[in-house]
Amino acid sequence: MLRRSAQFFVLILIAALSLLAWSPSADTRQIRVIGPSMAPTLLGDHDAWLCAECRFPFATGAESVEIGEHPAVCPNCGRFQPEEAQPQRKPGDQLLIDMLEARAGKPMLRWETIVFRCPESAEQHKAEPHCIKRVVGLPGETVELRGGDVWINGALARKTLAQQQTMAMVVHDSRFVPNAMRGTPLRWKGAEANTGWLAGEAGSFTFSGTSPRRRLGSSPGHPLEVDWLEYTHWRRSPEDPTRFEPAAIMDDYAYNRGESRRLHRLNDLMLRGSIKAFGPGMLAFRGSVDGHTYDVLLEPQHGRGRMLCDGVPVDGVNFDMKRPLLASSSQVEFSLVDHQVLLVIDGRLLVSHACPAEKISEKSVAADIAPPFAIGASDLSVTITSLTLLRDVYYIAPAEAKAVTLGQEEYYVLGDNSPLSADSRTGWPGPGLAARQILGTLQGP
Ligand SMILES: [Zn+2]
Repeated sequence: MLRRSAQFFVLILIAALSLLAWSPSADTRQIRVIGPSMAPTLLGDHDAWLCAECRFPFATGAESVEIGEHPAVCPNCGRFQPEEAQPQRKPGDQLLIDMLEARAGKPMLRWETIVFRCPESAEQHKAEPHCIKRVVGLPGETVELRGGDVWINGALARKTLAQQQTMAMVVHDSRFVPNAMRGTPLRWKGAEANTGWLAGEAGSFTFSGTSPRRRLGSSPGHPLEVDWLEYTHWRRSPEDPTRFEPAAIMDDYAYNRGESRRLHRLNDLMLRGSIKAFGPGMLAFRGSVDGHTYDVLLEPQHGRGRMLCDGVPVDGVNFDMKRPLLASSSQVEFSLVDHQVLLVIDGRLLVSHACPAEKISEKSVAADIAPPFAIGASDLSVTITSLTLLRDVYYIAPAEAKAVTLGQEEYYVLGDNSPLSADSRTGWPGPGLAARQILGTLQGP
């Protein structure tokens, strides 16, 4: 009898939990996004395109652009979409908002997305009194935007990899291969004429190293003896749209279509791919930031790794898993966002290095057309699929760039679509958003 009632109570409990999970709650509310200020993270009314050249799906804002005035440009391959192309008009994203009461007085966190009552002076929001932005400055902090990054009390505000991922935009996804017959150059290529890297199906790459193992130099002027697969960013020549020229990666937004402004060169990039590697040799991930070259060197068979900066080993940046890595296809993320180097394999953080202050440059560095990323291999069999290059948001500083100190009940908030967002930088009575205006936070990451 006792056992039966225990079973009965377990059943009741399961039913109650299910009800809680499925019933609409007073703690959440559904909203629809209007406007471009959080694009491409969150979309307002938009046109959904499939690139005529590479089939990459992308969106352009449908609210602020005279259709037909400016062509839509594929962010993945640079193709101007033909006039006859018919994008699909779609309504803004539906989001679930955790209402503020549900947080029981917990303060907002940096990089969190919030919904709030728009400040009264935000003229364009008269019809729609709610705004959605990302928190970048917390009460009492001094906030400055420099070099596209957020500086808090004089120190760089760095994001975790998970935070970077919520804001990252695709620069190039190798799965969407442009039509080489039209002369669109490939972005990833072996650096040497006799390279061991081969481009395969659906944007995959393979390498098989047959050369005897060579000593790997690690001193300046002693190049790594690996075979590099390099990324080159191509831009259509303004004079002749059938020609391409190598270019730096800039902070343009395909979403904004016709918007015309000065672009900024990006330092904050991330590489993601599925990688399988087998053999006694070395796999190298190379990226450059602030004019410095960082190499993470990995011995997959031993699960060991270390990092060089400009060819010199960086003290304390090494790992030894004592078991093989990448023996089966693994998700690899190599990030140079916010002046830090991160290497993550299957969710495990193996390298985390904040670039020291003396190596941070807030100005664009010359020679910026050098490949931002390369993957090198020697004496390995390597397969790479779904290789994707992403970029961080570049926060454009207000015209009168200066540090702003927030009050004790104020937040500094910015839109991800930095060129078009009205936010703490512009148009409000002051830069701070009063905490009492905040209604809730976006559910999820
Ligand atoms: Zn394309």
